[in-house]
Amino acid sequence: MHSSMIGKIAKAKQYAQEPERMQFTAFEATFQGENDIHTVSFKEGAWHCTCRFFADWGTCCHTMAGERILGVSIPAEHRQGEPLSLNYAGTHKGL
Ligand SMILES: [Zn+2]
Repeated sequence: MHSSMIGKIAKAKQYAQEPERMQFTAFEATFQGENDIHTVSFKEGAWHCTCRFFADWGTCCHTMAGERILGVSIPAEHRQGEPLSLNYAGTHKGL
């Protein structure tokens, strides 16, 4: 394998241990709930979900789960709920 590619793979492994380097600006995903499939999206700092609960409350278990799944890859100012990102960031600093 080309030596420069080996270097890139090594760097990718290092970067993957530091997920806060990658910050989502927008995404859309389907979410399989217990009774229905919803569409969850994150765009320009705002979460959205197609479920009924989100329409009434502006948050729901699908967007909250999305935050947990994506963790530090969501910009800090757009994370709702408990600051689990702090714990998450602390766990991989020592690696
Ligand atoms: Zn929802």
